[in-house]
Amino acid sequence: MSTSARVRADACPGIFATHDAADGPLARVRLPGGAITRARLGALADAADDLGDGALHLTSRGNVQLRGVTRPGLAGRLTAAGLLPSPSHERVRNILASPTSDAAQELAAALDEALCAVPGLAELPGRFLFALDGGRGDVAGEGADVCWRDGALLLAGEDTGLRVPAEHAVEALLSVARAFLRRRGTAWRVSELTDPGPLLKGIPGETVEPRRFAVNPGLPVGPIGEAIVAVPVFGRLTSAQARAIAKAGDAVVTPWRSILVRGPLETGTGLVTDPDAPSLGVSACIGRPGCAKSLADVRADAARVGRTPRVHFAGCERRCGKPAREHVDVLATEDGYLVDGERVPAGELATVLEKELSAEKGTQ
Ligand code: SF4
Repeated sequence: MSTSARVRADACPGIFATHDAADGPLARVRLPGGAITRARLGALADAADDLGDGALHLTSRGNVQLRGVTRPGLAGRLTAAGLLPSPSHERVRNILASPTSDAAQELAAALDEALCAVPGLAELPGRFLFALDGGRGDVAGEGADVCWRDGALLLAGEDTGLRVPAEHAVEALLSVARAFLRRRGTAWRVSELTDPGPLLKGIPGETVEPRRFAVNPGLPVGPIGEAIVAVPVFGRLTSAQARAIAKAGDAVVTPWRSILVRGPLETGTGLVTDPDAPSLGVSACIGRPGCAKSLADVRADAARVGRTPRVHFAGCERRCGKPAREHVDVLATEDGYLVDGERVPAGELATVLEKELSAEKGTQ
């Protein structure tokens, strides 16, 4: 990418700087750690109905987007609900945390507060991502710039060998963010730096031999103790579904476009809670008609395929919302799709993806 492209303003959408999509302004609301109280979820559902397209669109960073926000008043509503604690920092509150780890969730809240208290950190690129992994190795695999994984400090997914106790985790993550701002040049992500090592300078902690940690899949769908992990199809949570969740309890939006609901969820919501549901492996960008760049109605085509391996449908080469984990890439073209680069007519997608699944199973 050219330097001139790099020095232009950060284009990540927020609440004030919305993105102009074909279906109207798109606003992204950050939820550090994915955590959302039932009251705030209710406020978002009302905002989606009154100002947007009637749904909350979950993102691969555990945030939500409102689409078609053609009426004014969103910032006021979010402020009243406590969802906009720092207007200057709203686009940099990008924090993942293991949904089922109380320690990681508490650290995410503390990191958010500390981040918003440092005026200079409002200059971080909107793509910069923090992660707090309670040790399960779930959010550690989500491509964060800096991740605290139960004591280990990771940069761009690689263990640095630096070990930092939980009580110093927030300080360590902020120190990396500050150092990144000083050294980034035209880089948006830590992975773009030739040598990220200097980002660790001055962080106290023990140094050990770096190791390769196992990365675990996201949360399984279905009941987990008294909670339940539910999935809205294509990450589109209708306002009615959001209210059903709010009725059940507080929740955590996960980076896997699912929601951990902390309470008894009523039946008949249309949310997927069966771990064997075929739709679970499939994700898709918004596609036509919501995005003018899209070459196909990718969600309609994705809905027609049956059981598949983890697969992401994209309407153009930007591949918005693609999972950080390994997946089959399905890219729309003027005449059909490319599946991992191989041309496939739209009518043959289901057969080809089924074969991919059989091949995947055969190698396991
Ligand atoms: S991947 Fe392309 S078509 Fe899909 S939402 Fe992004 S820009 Fe639009």
